[in-house]
Amino acid sequence: MRIAIVGGGILGLMAGRALASTGHVVTLLETGQTGREASWASAGIIAARAPWTTTATGKLQSISADLWSPFAEELGAETGIDIEFRMNGCFYPAFNDDEARALERDARDAARLGLTLEFASGPTLRAAEPALGPAIVAGLMGPGGNVENRRLVRALDVAARRAGVTIQTGVHVESISQHGGILAGVRTNDGSSIDADVVVIAAGAWSSAIDGVVNRPRVVPQRGQILAVRGASPPLRRVVMKADDPYLVPRLDGRIIVGATREFVGFDRSTTAGGVAWLLGSAVEMIPGLARAEIAEIWTGFRPVSVDGTPVIGETELRGLFYCTGHGPSGISPAPATIALLTALVEERRPPLDPTVFSPRRFPA
Ligand SMILES: Cc1cc2nc3c(=O)[nH]c(=O)nc-3n(C[C@H](O)[C@H](O)[C@H](O)COP(=O)(O)OP(=O)(O)OC[C@H]3O[C@@H](n4cnc5c(N)ncnc54)[C@H](O)[C@@H]3O)c2cc1C
Repeated sequence: MRIAIVGGGILGLMAGRALASTGHVVTLLETGQTGREASWASAGIIAARAPWTTTATGKLQSISADLWSPFAEELGAETGIDIEFRMNGCFYPAFNDDEARALERDARDAARLGLTLEFASGPTLRAAEPALGPAIVAGLMGPGGNVENRRLVRALDVAARRAGVTIQTGVHVESISQHGGILAGVRTNDGSSIDADVVVIAAGAWSSAIDGVVNRPRVVPQRGQILAVRGASPPLRRVVMKADDPYLVPRLDGRIIVGATREFVGFDRSTTAGGVAWLLGSAVEMIPGLARAEIAEIWTGFRPVSVDGTPVIGETELRGLFYCTGHGPSGISPAPATIALLTALVEERRPPLDPTVFSPRRFPA
């Protein structure tokens, strides 16, 4: 089949690589450069397997947890790029005795469900993560990790091209085209048309802006302000996940990512004094050594949030037109299962999970 993919973030690139490697003729159209929007801005946290999860994203994440390691290896072999996928664990801090007791209960509940979450307080805690400051009185250590998402999108660009995807950058798709109710392809801003039997819209936070679709799924941008510090001592090993954010993500080069605000302010890319103050204040409270670290970079990104909070993956009422978007704050972690689901639906194979909840047809006219 001739397949046009709109958007070159993690999902567009992964879909392109997968569909080209099963013999389809794939063209990916990207308005700017590939991998420079949410997938670049992300912190790259990867969730652990949680088989009891009931949310739609949770199910995708849980299936993905088993797919990440072989995927990272394959990508490394195809491209020579180490995407720094490491599952060094996650730490959930408590700042007072009530929070500590709640986490202790969580550890007992998790044990009953077969997941190891180790409750740690005092010396055990600081032996495991010496960087943590006295404001943290206890916490849970569990599975989880992260990937260097900027390396990931770079590797995916290389892998997609190697698999045969034609990537056109600087090409903005304006609308879907159809003839007599049959999908014909896409139209771009320079007035040209690209013919396709299948179109996959993976345009992130901009997915709802593409014209020509009846019952467009509603995806809106959520701004995340996020920053990186360098030179923290002692270093951090695990991802630290504070219940109401921010989180801290250690990178292999010694940087620590501190993210991120969650703001519905349209496509405003500003970083604000309040946003940065909140990130840094909480980060230094958790890791006092960060006060002496250098601020390496501050940036923003737009999470593609579907209005009902569930990713949009599947075929629309127009045969051949698919969406793969709306993953919001967790779009890297569930990506392998998302692409397994999307490609199964495009190729009319048995999907790896029930696709109903993800269907773009759920949005009212
Ligand atoms: C600050 C922040 C932190 C995050 N942290 C995490 C995390 O720790 N773990 C996690 O799992 N997820 C995280 N996320 C979420 C995750 O990054 C996103 O859900 C995911 O990257 C979305 O990927 P995407 O391919 O759908 O979108 P994008 O990466 O935004 O890609 C969409 C692409 O489509 C292109 N495009 C748009 N319109 C058009 C058009 N009309 N024509 C052609 N091209 C077009 C854009 O230029 C862009 O390149 C975070 C997000 C942010 C912003």
